[in-house]
Amino acid sequence: MTTTEVLVIGAGPAGIAAATAAAENGCAVIVLDDNVAAGGQIWREATVGEAASAHRGHGRKWRALERLRRSGAQVLGGRCVFSAEASGTVQTSHETSSGTLVEQFHFEQLILATGARERFLPFPGWTLPGVFGAGGLQALVKGGFPVGGKRVVVAGTGPLLLAVAAHLAQDSAVVSSVVEQASLGQLARFAASLWEHPAKLAQGVLYRAMLWKTSYRIGCWVVEAIAGSNGHNLSAVRVTDGTRVWTEPCDLLASGYHLVPNTEIAALLGCKFRGTFVQVDKAQRTSLPNVFCAGEPTGIAGLEAAMVQGEIAGLACAGISTTLLQKRVAAERAFGESMEKAFALRKELRSVPRPDTIVCRCEDVTFGSLHGYTGWTDVKLQTRCGMGPCQGRICGPVVEFLLGWSPVSIRQPLFPVPLQAFCFQDESVEIATTNEPIEEKA
Ligand SMILES: Cc1cc2nc3c(=O)[nH]c(=O)nc-3n(C[C@H](O)[C@H](O)[C@H](O)COP(=O)(O)OP(=O)(O)OC[C@H]3O[C@@H](n4cnc5c(N)ncnc54)[C@H](O)[C@@H]3O)c2cc1C
Repeated sequence: MTTTEVLVIGAGPAGIAAATAAAENGCAVIVLDDNVAAGGQIWREATVGEAASAHRGHGRKWRALERLRRSGAQVLGGRCVFSAEASGTVQTSHETSSGTLVEQFHFEQLILATGARERFLPFPGWTLPGVFGAGGLQALVKGGFPVGGKRVVVAGTGPLLLAVAAHLAQDSAVVSSVVEQASLGQLARFAASLWEHPAKLAQGVLYRAMLWKTSYRIGCWVVEAIAGSNGHNLSAVRVTDGTRVWTEPCDLLASGYHLVPNTEIAALLGCKFRGTFVQVDKAQRTSLPNVFCAGEPTGIAGLEAAMVQGEIAGLACAGISTTLLQKRVAAERAFGESMEKAFALRKELRSVPRPDTIVCRCEDVTFGSLHGYTGWTDVKLQTRCGMGPCQGRICGPVVEFLLGWSPVSIRQPLFPVPLQAFCFQDESVEIATTNEPIEEKA
């Protein structure tokens, strides 16, 4: 058991800002992250070639990481938090050369900065090789996946689409079109609201300029991914505007429907929620007095919001007033709310999957087999939807959008952990690796 004053879960921009602020103000801080390196989604490490050198130029990231390093906060990468108790303990699983290790951390104050993940929506053909999540493809490219010369369609909804498309174009992909489901009216209102956020407006204009050869199809969505003559790899997508349907040839499809907050740990701890987000006060304190939350789990609002909320949470843990910073949170939260409205999912997307379209990829559960049940628990018990390795992280939001059922309870372990890991340091327990009976030891 490792004990610390402040434990931060998540080393994205919110967690980095939180840990830095708390450590600079005298707290002993440990930061845990599933990823090996700090940075989260937007500052994910680029490991190879041109991508690596391009990202090394991201001054803000390097300044934030350098300040974190100097603050004295200890960052432990490769730690996946799978259980948490409000009494002050979290458990992590950690892959080592000798197997999975379970570690326990005891905290006085906890900051949840667990970010968000992409929302996927199913359509016929979405399990074909060549179909990726938009952010997922971006992450692979940062890790060295070659897209040079490949024809890519980027589809779904949200500002991430343009960011991903620009990134892929920079890596020499041929981004033929960006397919955005939001209507022209929704986007026009969102663009108008950006005058209050000139830096974001400038970023959007820059992305669009980088994609000047790319068609930006508004109010359109993908209805099918089509395999090539070998029957396996993606060769084209079918796109509709609700009236016409046409085919666009491509080698890769990057598809994502905005973001879903990672709130499982907060739910496990028993924090109160505001809709789908964790409820926090002005100091980012949750309904539990020693648990704070910052960044995307409190509302999807982008990098600025994540950083300022993280700083507030870290300062609050150190007992320092955050009144001056709170005004910035309000402005960023308003931006998040306008983004939610602009990229709200259209109802037509509910009729895209066919009865044989897979919804739960872990357990191969089709859309058709979900009918006739009364809710999430019923469908989970009867079909195994949401029972696989992702524990409903992918199919949960899908089922919620398609059928209106949301998960009713959350249990640990949040992620699958091998049974062997719990016995790592306990020689009295032996795991049967054959069918022979387990021999009990005293
Ligand atoms: C796939 C993806 C790609 C994105 N790309 C861009 C982009 O190109 N440009 C842009 O402007 N915005 C992008 N965003 C949005 C961006 O992430 C946010 O705007 C903002 O930076 C979020 O910061 P954060 O610290 O709240 O979360 P994140 O950056 O998501 O950081 C959260 C961290 O928590 C860790 N974590 C979560 N759960 C656990 C757990 N149980 N155990 C251990 N660690 C855990 C994660 O590994 C992650 O490192 C992307 C988002 C996603 C989901």
